[in-house]
Amino acid sequence: MERVVILGGGPAGISAAKLLRGFRPDWEVTMVRPEPSSVIYCAIPYVVEGLLDIDRICKSDDIVTDTGTNLVKEKATKVDFDGKTVTTEGGKVLPYDKLLIALGARPLMPPLEGLSGAKNVFPVKTEEDLRAILEAITPNSRKALIVGAGNIGIEMAQAMNRRGLETSIVEMAHHVLPAMMDLDMVADVERELRGRGIDLMTGVGVKSFDRSGDVISKAHLTDGGAISLNEYGEDDLIVMSVGVRPEVELFKGTALPMGPMGVIVDDKMETGIPDVWAAGDVCQYSSFLDGEIVGGKLATNAVPMAKVAARNMVGLEWNYQGFVNGAVTVVDPLRIGGVGFSEEACRKKGLDVVIGRGKTTTRFPMMPGATEVTVKLIFKRDGKLIGGQVVGGEAVAERIDTLTMAIKAGFSAKDLMSFDYCSQPWQTFFPASNAIVAAAEDGWSKLI
Ligand SMILES: Cc1cc2nc3c(=O)[nH]c(=O)nc-3n(C[C@H](O)[C@H](O)[C@H](O)COP(=O)(O)OP(=O)(O)OC[C@H]3O[C@@H](n4cnc5c(N)ncnc54)[C@H](O)[C@@H]3O)c2cc1C
Repeated sequence: MERVVILGGGPAGISAAKLLRGFRPDWEVTMVRPEPSSVIYCAIPYVVEGLLDIDRICKSDDIVTDTGTNLVKEKATKVDFDGKTVTTEGGKVLPYDKLLIALGARPLMPPLEGLSGAKNVFPVKTEEDLRAILEAITPNSRKALIVGAGNIGIEMAQAMNRRGLETSIVEMAHHVLPAMMDLDMVADVERELRGRGIDLMTGVGVKSFDRSGDVISKAHLTDGGAISLNEYGEDDLIVMSVGVRPEVELFKGTALPMGPMGVIVDDKMETGIPDVWAAGDVCQYSSFLDGEIVGGKLATNAVPMAKVAARNMVGLEWNYQGFVNGAVTVVDPLRIGGVGFSEEACRKKGLDVVIGRGKTTTRFPMMPGATEVTVKLIFKRDGKLIGGQVVGGEAVAERIDTLTMAIKAGFSAKDLMSFDYCSQPWQTFFPASNAIVAAAEDGWSKLI
């Protein structure tokens, strides 16, 4: 019998607990998690919007305890790697034989003048953040400023807009979704956002904030502009969605190997400290594509990492292959997705790439509800697929998954040209016009 302690109750911690208890029902697995419940963070914007009740995204403890895992609802305050113990805020000392660190990441609050301690600024992560945002939106709220136009920023902006607030987005990059998409693929997305009255400013950052007591009254922008808030004492809000930082405070001054993006692990999710693994957002990891350290704080990376860690913890040989970073979002009626490297990222890396494009309709063109879908594929000079982006009315996520599999299988433009697919009027592209195949053919024609 081994004693395992899991630090963190997010997707990584929960996935590992399930697997460990499944493999080794005789092991004593204990999860330490301070929150009252495990929250489905991805659905937070839909609670803010009013589509879902908060209870729908707060999972019952059964998700953990039904696996036979013990749950300690406390914050871990100390880890003694030599003595192999975890100490909690409430003074519990939990001995372990094996430890999994799955503490996630917290929203980055940049050191901007006027930001610290302001009452109307909100990060988006925890149940507490969510409850604070819900409470802050009152009948007296008029404006919402969203800083950062990544997936979370875009989704929060739509939520605020749907709540009837005058919503602005300020994004430092030259277009929305800069980590996932290229400029040429988001023109329709930006048009949709502006079309519903969201004031989208790209290529502009927030320089500083003015305060009126404990609330922010103005955001000064890097282009000399400004956005006024709370001018007449309203309950206006600012949402910060400019990235996340790994939750590693606990390990300062310890021997745990750490990089700028988190705990350093090998492909078995081992940290180098005996019997200590780490998985999920708390980790720094590299790209599947070129082995370089790359961002990838996604639930869809956290879960596979945790499964690799759990399998290795029970003695199975398992390896994590790196981030491919398939991700999707929605700006109704558009679905938007990207995987691998964008063309812009490739150019920054000095990679010589060829672009293939395909456009068709989501269903057979004569079917009710058929809308346009555009596919962009990015190939290296040797023909290997290195990235893909899809924007369209439906089934974008499935296509991103297809491209993810193609990238991981090492597919070239030629391989994708003979990719076999199914077809049916309600559900797919027209048989003679598969947008992935068309984009591969377009790319291949530029490679030969
Ligand atoms: C608004 C929002 C939308 C998102 N949308 C998507 C999406 O659509 N798709 C996607 O793939 N990803 C999305 N993500 C990212 C995704 O939620 C994270 O990548 C994922 O939760 C990471 O899982 P994790 O288990 O590594 O860490 P987390 O889920 O962050 O879990 C960390 C756990 O550690 C606990 N913890 C922290 N400190 C301590 C401590 N000292 N002691 C004990 N426990 C501690 C926390 O309470 C938490 O339970 C979104 C995130 C947010 C905030």
